[in-house]
Amino acid sequence: MPVVDSDQRYFLLRQDENGAAEDDRAPGAGTVELGGSNAQEIESRLQQILETMRVAPPADPDPVDGRLTDPGYETYDHASSAPAGGFPPFMQLPTQTQGVTRLGQAMVDRGIITQDQLDEALEHQRMTRKRLGESLIDIGAVTSFQLSQALAEHLGVPFVDLETHPPDVMLAGMIPEEVARRYCALPVERWSGQVVVAMANPNDVFALDDLRVLTGQSILAALADTGHLLAAIERAYSRSDIIESTLDDAADDYDVEAEIQSGTVVDDAPVVKLVNALLEKAVADRASDLHIEPASRSVSIRMRIDGILHDTSEAPLNVLRPMVSRLKVMGNLDIAQNRIPQDGRFSLSVQGRPIDVRIATVPTAAGEAVVMRLLDPVRGAMDISSLGLSEYESERFITAFHAPQGAIFVTGPTGSGKSSTLYALLASVNTRDKSIVSVEDPVEYRLDGVKQIQINTRAGMTFPSALRSTLRADPDVILVGEVRDAETARIAADASITGHLVLSTLHATSSASSPIRLVDMGVEPYLVASAVSCIAAQRLGRKLCEVCAEPVETPDIALLRRLGATDEMLAGELTLRRPKGCQNCRQTGYKGRAPIFEIMPITEDITRLIVERAHSADIEHVAVEQGMDTLRIAALRRVLRGDLSIEEMTRVVS
Ligand SMILES: [Zn+2]
Repeated sequence: MPVVDSDQRYFLLRQDENGAAEDDRAPGAGTVELGGSNAQEIESRLQQILETMRVAPPADPDPVDGRLTDPGYETYDHASSAPAGGFPPFMQLPTQTQGVTRLGQAMVDRGIITQDQLDEALEHQRMTRKRLGESLIDIGAVTSFQLSQALAEHLGVPFVDLETHPPDVMLAGMIPEEVARRYCALPVERWSGQVVVAMANPNDVFALDDLRVLTGQSILAALADTGHLLAAIERAYSRSDIIESTLDDAADDYDVEAEIQSGTVVDDAPVVKLVNALLEKAVADRASDLHIEPASRSVSIRMRIDGILHDTSEAPLNVLRPMVSRLKVMGNLDIAQNRIPQDGRFSLSVQGRPIDVRIATVPTAAGEAVVMRLLDPVRGAMDISSLGLSEYESERFITAFHAPQGAIFVTGPTGSGKSSTLYALLASVNTRDKSIVSVEDPVEYRLDGVKQIQINTRAGMTFPSALRSTLRADPDVILVGEVRDAETARIAADASITGHLVLSTLHATSSASSPIRLVDMGVEPYLVASAVSCIAAQRLGRKLCEVCAEPVETPDIALLRRLGATDEMLAGELTLRRPKGCQNCRQTGYKGRAPIFEIMPITEDITRLIVERAHSADIEHVAVEQGMDTLRIAALRRVLRGDLSIEEMTRVVS
């Protein structure tokens, strides 16, 4: 573990050679197990923990060597610093208060290292005169990260993983670089009127006092891996110059705009660095969207992760115009025009990965807002097994898919994962003996072996014109990004009945309403009926975190029935699970998303109904009789299998 300065050495020394006292309290004293099923329960357990922290005596005073005792510990009370809104979800809270056992023994007790490893490390320590922690790392028993985590647990302080939760780039400016380095401390995030600060030693009262004075805010301290922390400080202060000077520049942002307009903007201009830092954070956090929204007093920056929008940070209002201008330049938009919405796109490379960004600006009363969608080709690459179809579902789907012709539509609202499904399906027929062409707006993921055509309306390359030229190129399979108008729909339908497999998406709420949607667009019912072979409506549900999901011992059968469960569905063994929250899932209980499908093959009966312009309810009725699971039933089956929580089902398909 890197040694920062004498304070750090002192700190680690104290931990590793922590006094002679063995734990002589009653077993379990001061220990509260975290484990709740809902926010309230977790909150109340949290309060219990805080209560315990409040009453537990500072256990440390070292009887052997007063030098090893942290003089400040007793005056610093983590409990009193707990924010009203609870701890932030990314903080890993200790399950016990400060231990009085030795760190090494505690690590053996918790199964992090074996007794043999401890003995070996102690031997190593005797020979090298290094600290125990370093010795454990030297012999390969733990990584520096594991040691820090164990240390936090041992000290009874929260832990924050800076790899999975990178610090907010906006906050570094709150403390001078020199102070950050001296105390090995870095602001991570604002939380309930406090500032979360990652520190190598969260018990250093002098540091805490200084930080409190410097920031003018109360501090919620957490321990972080020293290596990660040093790297984060390094990154933050190469960026925070940025922020400070951006703020200065923003005072006369005409200069910045003039600079951009005249094309003299350089890569190290503050606003450029600021925007890059934000995009980098969005990619690191696996965000699909990045929102920059002016409010009355500040600019809020939010990110959508696994479909849910999270507040990420805040910037002063005066950086809005330079930021928006910079983004407009990147997206090739008109920077002088701020009264009408504009959209564009650009590509960038983050940590060597190519990312495509779609950008849209929206004029609001408070100023221009910017929304960016991040398309990560690597993250998006999936195959058919990643869709998690049941055997029954894939049978219904794949039959249509392996036919030489016919149109398959994936439908759903924006953000329901239609395109990803289309790509997964396409990847499964992408063999050398087939010619595959796609017409897309935008090209979201790049696929080898597929001729992908980008729509460019301004240049006259529209869906219909691109499709027509595509058909002349002798394709077997055609992917149409989205059917939005009658002309595109008609060409796609014609292609389907003349021997092509056509894959496309449609904005419709259910499978049964999709044929009607096409008819409403202006396509003749007979053409819809004969061209379409299968429709799959889709939603995305957040997957339960596999690390922490808990079994539901006694499922609420009455509720399940209200949600649509039949006797037959309830007959088997029920293995419901619910979210809990752990470090792996940022305490949300969910990680990643999986699609839920309603798959409707177009049978003869349904063909007839479409031609007769039947109501979608009638189409759905027949489809269900013929074995279709509606979205609700498909979701419910996942609930009963333990793949989906009831809360998530209700959120997604209600
Ligand atoms: Zn979890």
